[in-house]
Amino acid sequence: MSIDIGKWGESRIAPGHRKRLRLEIGKSFSGANITLPLMVWRSPEEGPVVAVTAAVHGDEINGSGAIRRLIQEPPFTLRNGTLLLVPVVNIMGFERHTRYMPDRRDLNRCFPGNSSGSLSGRFARVIFDQVISRCDYLIDLHTAAVRRTNFPNVRADCDNEDCVRLARAFGCEVIVNSTGPDGSLRKEAVKRGCPTIVLEAGEVWKVEPSVQELTLRGIANVLAEFGMTDATESEGPPHQIIVQETRWIRSETGGFLQFHVAPGDAVSVDQPLATSTSLLGSENEIIRSPLQGIVMGMTTMPAVGPGDPVAHIAMPTSTRQHLRVEKSIDHLESHTIENQLREHLATNITVTVLEEEN
Ligand SMILES: [Zn+2]
Repeated sequence: MSIDIGKWGESRIAPGHRKRLRLEIGKSFSGANITLPLMVWRSPEEGPVVAVTAAVHGDEINGSGAIRRLIQEPPFTLRNGTLLLVPVVNIMGFERHTRYMPDRRDLNRCFPGNSSGSLSGRFARVIFDQVISRCDYLIDLHTAAVRRTNFPNVRADCDNEDCVRLARAFGCEVIVNSTGPDGSLRKEAVKRGCPTIVLEAGEVWKVEPSVQELTLRGIANVLAEFGMTDATESEGPPHQIIVQETRWIRSETGGFLQFHVAPGDAVSVDQPLATSTSLLGSENEIIRSPLQGIVMGMTTMPAVGPGDPVAHIAMPTSTRQHLRVEKSIDHLESHTIENQLREHLATNITVTVLEEEN
């Protein structure tokens, strides 16, 4: 590694210590210093540097909550290597409760950045040079965009075996194979030799309890995979699939939705996802799934127009795989995180059963 993990400007962090730092990253409109809070957590021994970043989109703060919990109540002892925690990457968006930077750019399209470029480009460059260039592995935490929720899933470039190792170890039920958009932190970090995964889980503007649990479990699993903690075995999901394709199912008409599925459900072909009604309850359209799969994302906004997204379906690679996952979901035990996630995320929407005549 080119930059010493124990040296941050004037600050020094010795092996076996952890320290809260503020990295100078820019200036506000009024000329005040903008600083990025981060924690460098060194174990007594040399080892990999794993970074966990959240809120690259400034309103996606579920991961920020998980990182805070991790710092306050560490669920493991760090034996080897270093953990680098950045609870809010887009600190300027976070200050305004928004996804974007003040120059209206999406920071997650600006990496690796440019030190003589736009505000976002310069910001991205400092983060890339000061944080990402010190890392061996990266976990980047996201949520669904505004008015949607995501059942937790991991995005990874499955042509890169180190990314697959990270994704599998984290332990979500669904891994989506993708390289990510150009300029995204994940894609650019992988290009520079830092295997990276993205977690997509929950909603904006919230710290959701079961999403936080799942995130903490995933981070602990990854550290255990690299031998960085004292854990001897990790806790994973009862099933795990890699999907090559996902699709949004959209409303054809304008209306007010009644949902018939919840995040994390398995759906079969032609299964009703939602009924679109008028405000006085007459039926406009039953929106059905044209394919089998797992409901990975949903709108939380029941008022829709033609073309608005309703449900995001992850498509298993075969019917056999689909049936296996469906059976596993039916048999989830009540105490598992997988079951809690389904219960909690379903409370954000009203789900009714559609009685259909055969
Ligand atoms: Zn995001």
